[in-house]
Amino acid sequence: MEHLSLIPGTTGATPVQNVGAYGQELSNVIVCVQAYDKETKQMVVIPKAECGFSYRKSRFNTTDKGRFFITSITIALSHDPPMPPFYASLEAYLNENKITKYTPKVIRDAVIAIRNSKLPDPKKVANCGSFFANPIIDSFQLDSVVAKYPGIPRWQVDSEHYKLSAAWMLENLGLKGYHEPNTGMAIWDNQPLVLVNEKAPNTASLLAFRDAIIKRVEERFGVTLQQEPELI
Ligand SMILES: Cc1cc2nc3c(=O)[nH]c(=O)nc-3n(C[C@H](O)[C@H](O)[C@H](O)COP(=O)(O)OP(=O)(O)OC[C@H]3O[C@@H](n4cnc5c(N)ncnc54)[C@H](O)[C@@H]3O)c2cc1C
Repeated sequence: MEHLSLIPGTTGATPVQNVGAYGQELSNVIVCVQAYDKETKQMVVIPKAECGFSYRKSRFNTTDKGRFFITSITIALSHDPPMPPFYASLEAYLNENKITKYTPKVIRDAVIAIRNSKLPDPKKVANCGSFFANPIIDSFQLDSVVAKYPGIPRWQVDSEHYKLSAAWMLENLGLKGYHEPNTGMAIWDNQPLVLVNEKAPNTASLLAFRDAIIKRVEERFGVTLQQEPELI
């Protein structure tokens, strides 16, 4: 789970959206979740197979949202060193820095260096990390997107579904580093999935900015971006 370094938050929240980064997800290492079940009023142990994990999803943020208070998690870590191939940007960093010996510490340091260079520090710049999840589409829809945009990065999720790079789509639209004067919102220069509040007065500004981005992506790619953070 060295790829998950520097993701801010508490342990109990990690299974909720099955936190992930650089090709790893919590579900790769989790064994079970200990929780208080508000329905049965009992402490329960939920094995991984019953957590409903998928990309940025679990039963805790879908079918059973709000039902469990997660008190601890059990994980199983490998003694084997991390092995390539790594996620493209991580691989590029390792090559550029001529790193060939892979230990969890080496990979963790690389991930921290990449994140620090790409992502704004939420303590200094108002943001909540990636605002859009990578959209998952079926192979039929993929064919029509790839016909127009052959270079679009995609990853196979299962036999029928593919994940597209939302960051690539926003960059293709010229939105990377875009500062929107009306709403006071902007897209971060080094990572287009991160929306930052420069001088937006209220949530309506954020939502207007979000909707405009979703519309532009729909018009160009025929794909609807999904918001990752929860709106309270
Ligand atoms: C700069 C930045 C970068 C980020 N990068 C990533 C990334 O790379 N990958 C990624 O996956 N996420 C990323 N995130 C999102 C965030 O870090 C995760 O969602 C994290 O798990 C949130 O933890 P939290 O403790 O703040 O939870 P909160 O945001 O407070 O809660 C998230 C949800 O989980 C529920 N919850 C929290 N704790 C518990 C519990 N103990 N039991 C039951 N439900 C609970 C809440 O009710 C809420 O619905 C990033 C966020 C920021 C600000």
